[in-house]
Parts: sequence; structure tokens; C-alpha cells
Amino acid sequence: MGRGDLVFMGPPGSGKGTQAQTLVREHGWVQLSTGELFRDHLKRETALGRAARGYMDRGELVPDAVTVDMVRERLREIPAGTRIVFDGFPRTVAQADALDRLLGELGRRVDAVILLDVPRQEILDRLGKRARAEGRTDDTPEVIGKRFDVYEQQTRPVVEHYERRRAVRRVDGVGGVDAVATRLREAAER
Ligand code: ADP
Repeated sequence: MGRGDLVFMGPPGSGKGTQAQTLVREHGWVQLSTGELFRDHLKRETALGRAARGYMDRGELVPDAVTVDMVRERLREIPAGTRIVFDGFPRTVAQADALDRLLGELGRRVDAVILLDVPRQEILDRLGKRARAEGRTDDTPEVIGKRFDVYEQQTRPVVEHYERRRAVRRVDGVGGVDAVATRLREAAER
């Protein structure tokens, strides 16, 4: 059996999405980003997209059941033997438990959790810039603050959950994109 899957974690705006994309491209792995999946549903105006919109616009988490169903669907499309990098999922302990079950059914498992460490102030600066550059409707200062609180309250416990399993690899997320990419590559290939 090949290597297990990876979970990328980090506060909103830590750059994990962009970094996961680069890493995945280099290695021929598959990125499963729940944020991207939700944005795709919004664009296509599916029922799921309509259900998710309000939560996203408020910076709240979409309910676990909706999120887990979406992940289950996506997992069916990914060939066995292809390494998955989960990005933005799991974000609650209930999602982490659901992920274990889903992967177990497919003969897969989480190998390591890569945590991108970026201080809060650095992130607030970066997110302000991204909002202006990309025009994301959930990047206003109020919603950014909310997403941060949600991360601290609901997602921090997921880090602790994986720490108990000794699965977490911390990576310093401050620095140029290339420098951070090098650190992440090292952590992912270890
Ligand atoms: P960021 O990491 O910058 O906050 P994402 O693209 O990961 O952005 O997520 C954007 C929004 O999509 C979140 O604020 C939330 O509303 C929703 N979302 C993404 N992933 C999840 C998830 N695993 N569980 C619940 N909601 C999610």
C-alpha cells in the first residue's frame, strides 16, 4: 500500500490553499478543498450552493452533514492509490471523525496533518489585501474576524485531536511563498 492521505490545516488566510495546489501539482496528488467545492456549487447555483451561501457570507461553517455529504461524493471520484491532500477539511471534530469513517470504508487513512503556523496580525494584513485583489464577498473585515473566531473555537480542537495521535507536523508559514513551499514540501515528503 502507498502512503496515506494528508490534511492541510491553518487559519483562514494562512496560504494553505495556494500551497496545497502547488504541492499537489508537483506530485500528481489530488487536492480536496471544501472551500473550492462550495464556491463551485455557488457558481453553478446548485441546491447545495444555495444551502451554503448564507453560512459562507457570514463566515460561519456550513453544517457538518452538508459538508460531509459533499466530501463523500467527491471521494468517490478519486482513484485508489492517489494521495489526497485535504484542504479546509476537517474543520470540526465531528468532521474529523466522519473523515476517519469515510476513509476507512475506502481502505484509506490520514497519514499526517500539516499545520501552517501564521500569527493573527500577519493574516489580517494578508486577508485585507486578498479581498481587494479577488473580490471575495467573504473577505470583508467583519467576516474575516468571524472566520478567525470560528477557527479558534471549532477548528483548534481538531488540531488537538490530531496532536493526540502524534500526526501533526508544524510548518512556519511566515516568509516568501517559495520559502514556505520548500518547508511544506519537506514536511509532506517526510
Ligand atoms: P478560508 O480558509 O480562507 O477561510 P475556505 O475557502 O476554506 O476559506 O472556506 C470558505 C468558507 O467555506 C468558510 O468560511 C465556510 O463557510 C465554508 N467551508 C469551507 N470548508 C468548510 C468545512 N470543512 N466545513 C464547513 N464549512 C466550510
